[in-house]
Amino acid sequence: MELFNLKDHNEQVSFTEAVLRGIGREQGLFFPDRIEPLSDLDELLSLPLVPRSQRILRHLIGSEIPNLEAIIEDAFSFRAPVVKADENIYCLELFHGPTLAFKDFGARFMARVLGSVRGEQHLTILTATSGDTGAAVAAAFYEQPGIDVVVLYPEGKISVLQEKLIATLGKNVRAVRIKGIFDECQDLVKTAFDDLSFKQQIGLNSANSINISRLLAQVCYYFEAVAQLDEKEREHVVFSVPCGNFGNLTAGLVAKALGLKARFVISCNANDTVPRYLKSGVWDPHQTIATLSNAMDISRPNNWPRVEALCRMMGWPLSSFDYGSMTDSETEETMRRLYQKTGYIAEPHAAIAYQTLQNSLKPGETGIFLGTAHPAKFKSDVERILSTSLELPQTLQQRSQLPLKAVSLPADYAGLKAYILKELGR
Ligand SMILES: *Cc1c(COP(=O)(O)O)cnc(C)c1O
Repeated sequence: MELFNLKDHNEQVSFTEAVLRGIGREQGLFFPDRIEPLSDLDELLSLPLVPRSQRILRHLIGSEIPNLEAIIEDAFSFRAPVVKADENIYCLELFHGPTLAFKDFGARFMARVLGSVRGEQHLTILTATSGDTGAAVAAAFYEQPGIDVVVLYPEGKISVLQEKLIATLGKNVRAVRIKGIFDECQDLVKTAFDDLSFKQQIGLNSANSINISRLLAQVCYYFEAVAQLDEKEREHVVFSVPCGNFGNLTAGLVAKALGLKARFVISCNANDTVPRYLKSGVWDPHQTIATLSNAMDISRPNNWPRVEALCRMMGWPLSSFDYGSMTDSETEETMRRLYQKTGYIAEPHAAIAYQTLQNSLKPGETGIFLGTAHPAKFKSDVERILSTSLELPQTLQQRSQLPLKAVSLPADYAGLKAYILKELGR
């Protein structure tokens, strides 16, 4: 697979290099400049998730990664069912993995690909999290040989459950509670990546959402969704994607470029930079505001250049997207309306995608909104809004009983660096 830096087309890398480097010069994203469509789509759709995903990713990646098939079998070990939520509307439930978030797909695939391409090199994943990503990355890299993980999170600023998912693993996963806010955690990570000799010494990698491997893994579940529909429903499919950094949407558009027949609805919360841009043509990010759907609280989505590049490459006008954005009170109303109508429980991110989909859907179309997190991950909000009580899935219940193994450190780079070097025995 050939990828190019979207800011400097002279920088060309293989898939392996793109995975190891994450980002290119001048913070440019890596992306292919052509995508060959799949030739045997009907046959592919008749296959189960794992063999189908093996064919799709082998087609995209080419001959790199000799053990790609085994990686996929190991990474995609849980289901992504399409569940009826309303008339002509389904939820693609992507939350049946180990941390109950769709990020498990990308993180598990990336962990295994990195394990395969690192060679003899020892790697250290350093990531700052305000919740979901850190949990998915920690779980995905747990017990991966030759790779250590350090997750930083702001003390008291993530949910009890999220902290349990990050800080009860141990072994090669270190959880570091920073006495500060999320931005300070992120600054510490940035400082570490700018510390070139340290970066070299410990083989630093970020595992963040701009890594191309995470994105490619997500392409597969769009096919999985369509494969679960009947022939007639497959004719006019509409996906509604709850967007934060727009990685999930990019993956869906790659599936479309590969030949999957569908149109896409962009769903945002009050952080609506893209919907306003599509309406006015002016890119004008506002201050990010906190909402119920906090994984979408992003006003400068870092995958947007990939969406534009792909649309340019395929000749799709940006005006072909439908889009919508919702306030918290609209989100709550939607959750209640859907629950009362059909009994389906959607957490805030999925609820936004459901409502913008319903607003956009035309007669004869089949809608699929992406369920990006399990409702139990937002237990207290969902229980308050729907006046009901939710049970924690068994894996979460067990994890929530375990003691925390986190250390606490001040938001100070020298202290963090000393801690990491000591832990890694350097
Ligand atoms: C990360 C996340 C999103 C946003 O996905 P992007 O790929 O960043 O657009 C939506 N919902 C949930 C629950 C998430 O964790």
